Amino acid sequence: MMEEAYRCVHCGFCLPTCPTYMATGNEADSPRGRIYIVRALAEGKLSVTDGVLEHLDRCVLCRRCELACPSGVKYSAIYGEAQRMLGGALTGRTVGKLERAGLRLVTGSGVAAQIALLLSPILPWRHLRGFAAGPRLRLGRYVGRVFRHKGRYRGRAALLAPPSCISHVAYSGAVVAAIRILTWNGFDVVYPRLTCCGAPQLHIGDFKAFEERRRANLERLAQLDADYLVVPNAGGCHSTWAEYPVDGALDIMELLDQVGPRGELGRVEVVASIQHSCHGQIAMRVRDAALRVLGRIPGVRLVGLPSRDTCCGAGAMYPDRHPHIAEKILGAKLREVRDIGPDVLLVESPTCRAHLNGVGPRIMYPLELLDESYMAGRNPGYAELQSAL
Ligand code: SF4
Ligand code: SF4
Repeated sequence: MMEEAYRCVHCGFCLPTCPTYMATGNEADSPRGRIYIVRALAEGKLSVTDGVLEHLDRCVLCRRCELACPSGVKYSAIYGEAQRMLGGALTGRTVGKLERAGLRLVTGSGVAAQIALLLSPILPWRHLRGFAAGPRLRLGRYVGRVFRHKGRYRGRAALLAPPSCISHVAYSGAVVAAIRILTWNGFDVVYPRLTCCGAPQLHIGDFKAFEERRRANLERLAQLDADYLVVPNAGGCHSTWAEYPVDGALDIMELLDQVGPRGELGRVEVVASIQHSCHGQIAMRVRDAALRVLGRIPGVRLVGLPSRDTCCGAGAMYPDRHPHIAEKILGAKLREVRDIGPDVLLVESPTCRAHLNGVGPRIMYPLELLDESYMAGRNPGYAELQSAL
């Protein structure tokens, strides 16, 4: 995989898209600098020092640099190679055994996730506190059920939102809203028992846990009878499912953009800004699906966040691992949010949501705004779907 590193032509187009480079101004904290470091390590021209590990570990793994690179360099593959080459030394200083085990637990057991969310005020991880804000429903009771379509049948959709993972446990209302929206739009919805996709483990180089999860999920997915695999606004999960590889995983807004939302979209008077998911864009390669769908809602005024296409500094435990850089990245984002003053800040990923939680405006997924619009429209029976679920 080192060939990938040799494809970098050092043009620097990726630098302004890199949140850590923008935060520190240091070339060694940029994609180009990190590629150079990994190459030099592989060629034996550089020794592994604390400084080298620090610059590599500071990467949020947002993959924005991949989207910007005109040569198509797959930075994440180079970084993955560095993680393998350096083993525990790379993330070991910022992700200890306790954090590693804790992350496995809260992404692998719905009960553990609920307990962690309850205890989050007294636990030492501030990123966890961000997850604790949303109302929580017991997702386990939906597992294995098939929710029947309304209106003309459009196909069978399996929801990729594992009930064992804190990302969906914390924002369980969005999972239920996704079921409502999809059934209303003519899809039979299956809620399968999957385990976490393993994205957090990939980020911290816990490849063993990732591989276990990938294998378990692929076995379960092979038994599913579904026309569509739908991810409810969870960009990091989306790009991970896509690279399992699982054919045809779609973000819910991407699917609705393709088929056209049905029913009456009621008026919702809000000014909304959006922070796009970095990984969602890697997976979709279509940035504006959510904007097109939301643009149909009467009363919604979408105002672009100037930096909506740059990372917010979330990522697996990143705000705890590198608090100063995460704060700096977030600070720049906050200034923009304050300047625009939206009523709602739309995000497309649970980790971004947890990181941006508390910045001021209400934080929602695009699908939740769509759900509100359906509730406000003349859609007889839509609101009752809430109690039927
Ligand atoms: S993945 Fe993100 S943080 Fe890492 S080098 Fe690329 S742009 Fe920078
Ligand atoms: S944009 Fe691509 S080729 Fe240019 S420096 Fe960045 S990674 Fe290298």
